[in-house]
Amino acid sequence: MNQEQFMEALKELDIVLNEKQLQQLNQYYHLLIEENEKMNLTAITEEKQVYLKHFYDSLTLIKALDLRKVKSLCDIGTGAGFPGLVLKIVFPTLSITLVDALNKRVTFLKNVIEKLELQDIEAIHARMEEYARNNREIFDVVTARAVAPLKELLELGVASVKVGGKLIFMKGIVKEEETNKIEKTMKTLYLKEKKMTQFLLPIEQSTRTLLSFTKTSPTPSKYPRPYAKIKNCSL
Ligand code: SAM
Repeated sequence: MNQEQFMEALKELDIVLNEKQLQQLNQYYHLLIEENEKMNLTAITEEKQVYLKHFYDSLTLIKALDLRKVKSLCDIGTGAGFPGLVLKIVFPTLSITLVDALNKRVTFLKNVIEKLELQDIEAIHARMEEYARNNREIFDVVTARAVAPLKELLELGVASVKVGGKLIFMKGIVKEEETNKIEKTMKTLYLKEKKMTQFLLPIEQSTRTLLSFTKTSPTPSKYPRPYAKIKNCSL
């Protein structure tokens, strides 16, 4: 996806970028590629592919919720900043917390935040199950892209969402058995309104799924469970 196709596709998401935002994305792309030579940040390096599979894809979160009405968002397992850092650039009024278990990636994120002079965004080196223990019911939205199976994501993310707030997960193809498995977990964690939004990524036409949940009551104190077993997932 070249810049022109990127801007056109964003129009359909009701997003229009200004010069500064385009420049920040460009700078982010170059920092990503530069650092990727020293550490493993992404397997996707070609510029058009980064704009499609990282930048555009991150912004599709807006299909599940109008992020202009959201104040605070936490991105679990953000890796090189997807979707959280892209969301900060495009929706600058959002207050963003990026959490990742790998310190090298967090160091990269801090460097991008500084170079792009982004405000009201922090990158935290922690496992979410540890971070969430002391940061309960503080975010309007908790999200994650390509981090873990749905049941584990619910358990990891729910404690940090405010009552009335949303958990929204970004995935590739989601099998029915994965969504059927979480009915009991949703009850235990006081979650309702499982909403699934499915669409195709432009150009390469691969399936994307957004799964959204609303939290209705405070989370029982035993969640997140310590050292929840996480199988890493990709899109
Ligand atoms: N969200 C990014 C993306 O879509 O490109 C990165 C996805 S990568 C497959 C998964 C990331 O989750 C890794 O950076 C890993 O360090 C992080 N991670 C896995 N389990 C985690 C946990 N329990 N708490 C925080 N980060 C975690």
